[in-house]
Amino acid sequence: MEVVSKAREAAGWWAGLSFRERRNHLLTWKRIIAARSDQLADVMHAETGKPIGDALLEIMLAVEHLDWAARNAERVLKRRRVRSGLLAADQGAALEYRPLGVIGVIGPWNYPVYTPLGSVSYALAAGNAVVFKPSEHTPATGEWLAAAWREVVPRPVLQVITGDGAAGAALVAAGVDKIAFTGSAATGRKVMAACAASLTPVVIEGGGKDAMIVAADADLDAAAKAAAFGGFGNAGQTCAGVERIYVERAVYPTFLAKLAAIAESVQPGEDGPYGRMTVATQVDIVRGHVDDALARGGRAVVGGPESIKPPYVFPVVLAEVPEDSTAMTEETFGPTVVVNPVDSLDEAVSLANASTYGLAASIFTKNRDKALRTARRLRTGAASINSVLGFAGVPALPFGGVGDSGFGRVHGADGLREFSRPQSVTWRRFTAPMDVMSLSRDPAVLDRAVKIFRMRHARGAVRPRSEGHPGA
Ligand code: NAD
Repeated sequence: MEVVSKAREAAGWWAGLSFRERRNHLLTWKRIIAARSDQLADVMHAETGKPIGDALLEIMLAVEHLDWAARNAERVLKRRRVRSGLLAADQGAALEYRPLGVIGVIGPWNYPVYTPLGSVSYALAAGNAVVFKPSEHTPATGEWLAAAWREVVPRPVLQVITGDGAAGAALVAAGVDKIAFTGSAATGRKVMAACAASLTPVVIEGGGKDAMIVAADADLDAAAKAAAFGGFGNAGQTCAGVERIYVERAVYPTFLAKLAAIAESVQPGEDGPYGRMTVATQVDIVRGHVDDALARGGRAVVGGPESIKPPYVFPVVLAEVPEDSTAMTEETFGPTVVVNPVDSLDEAVSLANASTYGLAASIFTKNRDKALRTARRLRTGAASINSVLGFAGVPALPFGGVGDSGFGRVHGADGLREFSRPQSVTWRRFTAPMDVMSLSRDPAVLDRAVKIFRMRHARGAVRPRSEGHPGA
């Protein structure tokens, strides 16, 4: 692929710059994006249907990350001395995070700026060149970002290729040094299988089926408001959006009534709190999940199949939906939520964890200790307490999931290291008094070394109960 060869040449130049020089270029790019954010928001609005306000919020979040990546790359990745330890006391030791080379970034359509820039910004800040393939539904947004970059750095350090899955597959096969994929788990599996052929490393940011847990002592108004934002915002097309809500039985009816009141007042539209469904085929998935939930005995509290008026889907609140319904097991990616009662937080945690996905979760309670204890028991990459998506705007926090939500991390120091190769370097400082790393070593020296080794590491070991073979 020609773009990858061009990127490889540019990567050498880019990696050769100092952290400060790269930072300055990245910050100039950031300023252009921020100054022309209205223009970019228009492009995003036209491609995805998201309201301009949501597009601007997305750009603001993305720019915060870009700024952090630019300013923190040196601190996180620069060469640092490490202790060499007793056995290697003659060695000096240092660790440095070097760029990988060319990173292929494959993006989704739901957050066409925030999501891919979570990889692109960190990969560039770590000294790599990037070839970015935006979703086939948002090519102009990708092109806009690359054009703004070219104003700063005319060399092909960041390039965009457009097209559908075939273009993504070609990029995966083009010999890049790492693939950063964001999209569905199903496509993630295909990408990983293709990467296996060339042992190309890959970071997978997959989908989610995020749970919200509402404890009996929660601020129910705040929880209902957050549930509506996390569930219906961006038409529910958010990887870490709220799809399942588990509420302690004592406050279940009150919470449900509060959420229902908000849901009934929400009108999607061009300038509404959320816009149209971006992709027509997603509407059928949403319909399928709503139908399945109701067919299995779930209750429609707000809306139902009639809420689906393409290209819009009005908010749907379902209740008491069996856990084996597709509305509970698969990513819906629409403005629907299921609210189920639970007898305890323990039950809420085990139901939340029963998903194949594990991206994020939220917990509502006034008890901080209880919240933190609950968060630690969740099998997710992130948790927000008394808010939803709280982590998305904190650039120092890594983001990523487990299970079908993928692996590897973008954002934060881990996100910078994800696009780096740790390189360990030692240098011999003096001749070791006990030189055991030699073919001509003195057996007496090894003897002494073994004695010291046992003194350091075997002291306090449990003696075998009988003489002879351990375990005899
Ligand atoms: P998708 O899997 O359909 O496509 C994602 C990207 O992969 C697109 O650019 C597509 O062209 C490309 N692609 C398709 N087939 C390919 C192949 N065989 N080889 C290489 N590339 C290929 O996902 P989508 O519908 O665009 O995005 C929605 C999904 O993304 C949801 O599941 C959502 O949860 C997830 N998502 C995850 C995160 C996260 O950070 N975890 C963020 C946003 C979206």
